[in-house]
Amino acid sequence: MTRTVVLAGGVGGAKFTLGVREALARREAPPATVVVNTGDDLWLSGVRLQPDVDSIMYALAGQNDTVRGWGRAGDTERVNEELQAWGAGWPWFTLGDLDLGTHLARTGWLRDGLTPTQVLERMSTRWDLGVRMLPMTDSEVDTHVRLADGTVLHFQEWWTRHRATLAPAAFENPGIGDAVPAPGVAEAIAAADVVLVAPSNPVVSIGPILAVPGVRDALAQTAAPVIGVSGIIGGAVVRGMADVCLAAIGVETAADAVARHYGARRAGGILDGWLVAEEDAALVPAIEERGIRSRAVPLWMTDAAASGAIVDAALELAGV
Ligand code: GDP
Ligand code: CA
Repeated sequence: MTRTVVLAGGVGGAKFTLGVREALARREAPPATVVVNTGDDLWLSGVRLQPDVDSIMYALAGQNDTVRGWGRAGDTERVNEELQAWGAGWPWFTLGDLDLGTHLARTGWLRDGLTPTQVLERMSTRWDLGVRMLPMTDSEVDTHVRLADGTVLHFQEWWTRHRATLAPAAFENPGIGDAVPAPGVAEAIAAADVVLVAPSNPVVSIGPILAVPGVRDALAQTAAPVIGVSGIIGGAVVRGMADVCLAAIGVETAADAVARHYGARRAGGILDGWLVAEEDAALVPAIEERGIRSRAVPLWMTDAAASGAIVDAALELAGV
């Protein structure tokens, strides 16, 4: 019986979650609870988008576009063309037709008065996801990027329109201080046998989850070991722009630097263990000196089996 909680962002979180499902099924363990970043969420053309929630849901459902790396497989863009013709939305932000179906369903249920947690619970019945998904919070929390000249952009504009080319001075989640963890989040962490931190972006995926008041306390207090997986391999991000995000908060793009950023749980941080890539095996002693158990294993999440092997290593490091 391994009750597992995962903290996850979008695409990296999705690849990791496929491995969690695979590894736990092999052990006949109960389905994991996946706490998903909702700091990327936004309103666009009247609908609520939850990019990280959808990345994980679509991947678990086998409905994701694995070539493009986001959205639904086989999607079309007819509605998007019409929105562009109206001058609605953002010209650089494509909404697929199938994807819009998801957003419309979600928005309708939110308008009916369901909470984001209830909406996700309802959405989770369509496909056999094999995990329980929870948003990090039911509060609307945006991520803003502040540039050196004081300009503030929505994270999606900075990321999708400008491809993270504008040097960020800070990432902000206005109002997050008033957010509370979604129902079930703190409870799942408290009751867990192990908590896994996916190799998601430490700043804009895991960062907002940890910034929801109560989440850090829950991680500090749980009896479960907390094991993280590095998204940095050999001093580089595998995919995405975590390096630009890390630089903005003064953290080097290196597996040991991210481990120090998260910190040892016994020193007020969140980690008991940290998996680094084989390529970073030389960093293990320095991480362990910081009071974080560490091991070097293959960290390329090429498919669910490869991700499952990473989860096996994380559970082994956790001693569960
Ligand atoms: P996003 O919300 O869609 O940007 O995705 P996440 O934040 O969940 O994940 C992005 C992170 O996943 C990036 O920092 C990548 O370095 C990391 N990542 C992507 N693929 C892999 C992989 O195969 N192995 C590891 N270890 N990390 C990966
Ligand atoms: Ca994201």
